Amino acid sequence: MTTADVLIIVGPTPSSPRKIDRAAIGFGRKATDCISGELDLLLLGPAAETASSQFAHLGARKIYTIGHADLANYTAEAYTHAVCDFTSERNYRFLGGSASSATRDYFPRVAARLGIPMASEVLEIDQLTADQAQLVRAVFVGNLLATLSISGPQILATCRASAFEVPAEEVATESPVEVVTISHALALAGKQFLSLTEQTSDRPDLTEAEIIVSGGRGTRGAEGFQLLEQLADQLGAAIGCTRAVVDSGWMPNDLQVGQTGKVVAPKLYFAVAISGAIQHMAGMRSSKTVVAINKDPDAPIFEIADLGLVADMLEAVPQLTEALKG
Ligand SMILES: Cc1cc2nc3c(=O)[nH]c(=O)nc-3n(C[C@H](O)[C@H](O)[C@H](O)COP(=O)(O)OP(=O)(O)OC[C@H]3O[C@@H](n4cnc5c(N)ncnc54)[C@H](O)[C@@H]3O)c2cc1C
Repeated sequence: MTTADVLIIVGPTPSSPRKIDRAAIGFGRKATDCISGELDLLLLGPAAETASSQFAHLGARKIYTIGHADLANYTAEAYTHAVCDFTSERNYRFLGGSASSATRDYFPRVAARLGIPMASEVLEIDQLTADQAQLVRAVFVGNLLATLSISGPQILATCRASAFEVPAEEVATESPVEVVTISHALALAGKQFLSLTEQTSDRPDLTEAEIIVSGGRGTRGAEGFQLLEQLADQLGAAIGCTRAVVDSGWMPNDLQVGQTGKVVAPKLYFAVAISGAIQHMAGMRSSKTVVAINKDPDAPIFEIADLGLVADMLEAVPQLTEALKG
């Protein structure tokens, strides 16, 4: 017999809630409202216990933390084991989190191990009852919305962070924290963590940034991107790019925006020398304001741009940067 409660899973836990974690909590609150249940949080990883105070005013009934040694370095197996161990006896109606590279990796394993259905990158909860869920997600590169109808007492779902927000004001009541101890090993025998190579940058993270300056193939590589970086410096913005840019080897893969890259929803998105292919727009169409600079007046990006400038970016971008300095 499942409860009417909702569990939002955050892991690996950052030192304080990111935009995607707050969105996951917004997603959890929406689910909780539908079934009149309570919202709990499960924080996983080495930072879980110390970060729990940062999550304490977001409206959770309770925060559970698991900081098992096998979670110190991310592996899908250890995180899957931790979630399954925690949830198997607790019978939550709804398990959720934000879509991220980690949850794309371990949530399907959790669903398979628990034997429950999963929906990914949900945009809306149309209906949630004790044994029925109707969840909306984008299909065909965002050109259609599909409503999934899922029966059963338990469900696991990730949300698209751009679709959910946690209300800005913090909840006065502090969520109590319970440290959960798992005494057995979580790591998979025969698999060993060796090392992690991380790229660090002073710029804001692409999925967290309020402003993104994104460049396409028309930047012609290093010369154009240097101009975009100067503009981004002036605006305190993150840098993004199209797949054509990544495929050309001009920018690393983690800066790609789109269907097979990151989905972003900043307040301001500059699309510079980007044609506006549907696969790119799938990743940035939820941006609040889109500014496009392209020398082709018929470029499809102008169809979704709020402000458009038909110009050569090699001339327009330095002028814009200079104007912002003044
Ligand atoms: C399965 C699949 C998944 C994909 N996933 C993604 C994805 O996640 N993200 C993504 O971005 N793409 C993705 N693509 C690729 C996508 O279809 C496009 O090929 C790509 O987005 C085009 O990138 P672009 O706009 O940089 O290049 P182009 O389409 O070549 O456009 C370059 C633009 O620059 C303009 N331009 C040229 N010179 C200048 C100048 N000096 N000043 C101003 N404007 C100039 C041109 O007018 C043109 O509009 C995917 C494709 C497939 C098939």
